[in-house]
Amino acid sequence: MERTFVMVKPDGVQRGLIAEIIGRLEKKGYKLIGLKMLTLTPETAALHYAEHAGKPFYPGLISFITSGPVVAMVWEGKNAVKGVRTLMGITNPTEAIPGSIRGDYGIDMGRNVVHGSDSPVSAQREIAIYFKEEELV
Ligand code: ATP
Ligand code: MG
Repeated sequence: MERTFVMVKPDGVQRGLIAEIIGRLEKKGYKLIGLKMLTLTPETAALHYAEHAGKPFYPGLISFITSGPVVAMVWEGKNAVKGVRTLMGITNPTEAIPGSIRGDYGIDMGRNVVHGSDSPVSAQREIAIYFKEEELV
């Protein structure tokens, strides 16, 4: 079984989409094995988005992702990384297919409701930022 890291971003929490996002992943058949609510520090945000440091949108990304509470989760299932990315839809909500989470709820590139790991290696790295192994069931 594969694990992936998923986060309901501050806009998703603020708009009351936590249950909707969890429900979609549950109904698809993935298993929730870790969950916590927290507000990211700038340090944690920088670790999470290290690959984007130096890009033009980076300062806005860090200020957005630290702007309010998020829901950090670990989900498990067959090909969970790719499957969750498919359920989420592509980064730009304007182009994300209706029926996907971002296609249905996203507003713009900066406010796209949800994060999911983009590879099994990223998943392992991101899970370790937010969870200790003993916090996963
Ligand atoms: P995430 O990592 O948040 O799940 P993603 O993997 O679909 O999203 P990335 O390329 O990793 O996309 O970008 C991380 C985040 O940075 C995006 O979710 C988006 O909010 C923001 N971002 C990416 N590219 C741009 C851009 N060109 N302009 C503005 N914001 C961007
Ligand atoms: Mg990404």
